[in-house]
Order: sequence, then C-alpha cells, then structure tokens
Amino acid sequence: MLVALFIVITLASAPLSALAQKASPVAPNRARAEAAVREAYEKFKNDTGGKNADYIPYLAKVPSKLFGIAIVTTDNQVLMLGDVKYSFSIQSISKVFSMAMAMDEFGAAKVFDKIGSEPTGRAFNSVFAVADLPTHTGNPFVNAGAISTVSLISAKSAAEKWNKILNYYSRCAGEKLSLIDEVYKSEAATNTGNKALAMLLAKYERIYADPFESVDVYTKQCSVGVNAIQLARMGATLANSGKNPATGEQTIKAENVPYILSTMMMAGLYDGSGKWAWHVGLPAKSGVGGGIVAIVPGKGAMAVFAPPLDEAGNSVKAQKVIEYFADKLDFNLFSPRSVGLKY
Ligand code: GLN
Repeated sequence: MLVALFIVITLASAPLSALAQKASPVAPNRARAEAAVREAYEKFKNDTGGKNADYIPYLAKVPSKLFGIAIVTTDNQVLMLGDVKYSFSIQSISKVFSMAMAMDEFGAAKVFDKIGSEPTGRAFNSVFAVADLPTHTGNPFVNAGAISTVSLISAKSAAEKWNKILNYYSRCAGEKLSLIDEVYKSEAATNTGNKALAMLLAKYERIYADPFESVDVYTKQCSVGVNAIQLARMGATLANSGKNPATGEQTIKAENVPYILSTMMMAGLYDGSGKWAWHVGLPAKSGVGGGIVAIVPGKGAMAVFAPPLDEAGNSVKAQKVIEYFADKLDFNLFSPRSVGLKY
C-alpha cells in the first residue's frame, strides 16, 4: 500500500493572517526545512528498528509502519509529511502539560517542592527510583512524579479534574481533543504497576489526593488522542512562551516555560535523556504511543509519530528524524551553530 506523501505549508488564518503575510521573522528557512524533512522521511521510513509497546495491549496493535512528521512555528507556519492525521495516544507527553497546569495553579516553587525535578536515570515506571531518591517522586515526567502531579491539580471530583485536564490540553493544541476510549480501557485493565507506584507515593506522603483515583485520571490523560499536527502545535505553544501560535491564547504561564523546558531536557526521554541531550540538544518529550515532540525555544516545535520504540520507550524513527533535522537546521541549543557561529 502506498502511503500518500505530502508537504503542505499553511499560513495562519485570521486573526493572525496579517502576520502571516509577512516573511516569517523566526521560522527556519522554509526551503531548507522542507528539504530536511523530506530527506529525513526518505532516509528513515524503512527503518525497522524498535518494537511497539505491548505492555498496554492496544499499543501492540497500532500499525508499526505509521510515520508522520509535523512542524509548527511560533508564527504558525505548518509543515507536514506522512501520516500526520492519524490520532495516537499522547501517553507520557501528557505529563508536560499536566506539569504546566500544576505550575499555573500553584507556582513553580511549590511544584518543585511537592514533586521535584531530578533525573532518575531509571526506567519511567521504576519503583526503585521512588524508593531511592530523596524526593520519592523523581520528576513530573516519570510515572510516579506524573501521578503525583495529577494528584496535586485541584478539583472537587475526579470527573472535574479530568475535564479540566482535557480542556487545558485542548487549548494548548488549539482544537478540541478527546479520549481514545480503547486505549484507556486497555491500560486501565493492566496498570497494576502504576497502582503500586501510587501506593508507594502514599507511603512517602508524596501523593496529594486519593491514590487510585489519581492513577485513573492519569491513565485517562495518557489516553488522549493527538495527531502529529496537534502535538506540534502543543509544542509550538511551549516554544512561543506559552502562547498558542494558532489561537493567540496564552495557555501556559510564560514564567513557567523555562522550568518545563529544563525538565524536558533532563528527563524528557527517561533513561535515554542523557544520550538525547548529547546528540540533539533540544528539550523534548516522548510517549510510548510512539510520539516525540521537540522544542526549539522561540522558533517552533517538531512532532514525529512512529510506533516502534527502543529499550527506554522512545520512538526509534522519531529520535532519528529530530536528530537529523536539528543537525541540518543548526538547532542544537548547546552548539555554537545555534546562534549563527561557524566552526
Ligand atoms: N501511560 C503510560 C504508563 O503509565 C505512559 C508511559 C510512557 O509513555 N512512557 O506506563
């Protein structure tokens, strides 16, 4: 079966249309970006590395060949190629936006105090990290810290909390998102490990609402469906200091964005984060659904979807595409080339 390939550049619609008429002040050179995306797509589309997650039964059934790349810039230019309309579960990428919600509500200092922000160097679902680390949560991007983050978000009931979360994610995406019910049911039936983590958090007094209720809302947030374009727009909101470039809404408090991005740099790819920082040098977040979103602060975000994962739970193709693109466009934040210096 032939996969339809297409690159489309769309400019912002009203009310940002006036801005879109002008040459982009921040977006990468369009021709270079398009060429790099095409090259990466061709280079990696037949890569057979990795394996779909299967500890959530639904994820094992997602077609492994799906492959989509989307970029949204801070001035709302969109570039996309491949399976960019396929809705996949956001999984751990959701943790970024729940962290943002908690900080919007309580401020970064309280979130740092209640959850922490230490890379664990262990698998995302590690029990040892909870037991060993002084914070007993790790950070908001491992399962324990993420469940703890969900518990912190205020609401009168679990249903209200879930609606609040879904609404927040939707505003970051610039369109209404919804639950993939089959993913939720599949994970809810098998998430004994996360329940154990929640009880361990309770032992250390690091969970701030009912443990099992928190796991349930967390499981729902992981089961939110996004396509690559929506995910790239969520990333572009972060790249744009919390202001959604499509809707113009300030959805995430700007003062919290540096904390979010630094946590993404330290722990966005779990125990693969060091390697990622070394090779790519961009804050990013992965999910076991096969998505990765990477942020180029002030410029935009790239989301790549391809289900097969490496040992740490990070999409193999997505990592390769983003690394290729960041290198071609000189986006590695730690490289002198990112600020235009040649060497
Ligand atoms: N929902 C998944 C879990 O709790 C998320 C993990 C991930 O994407 N790394 O295991």
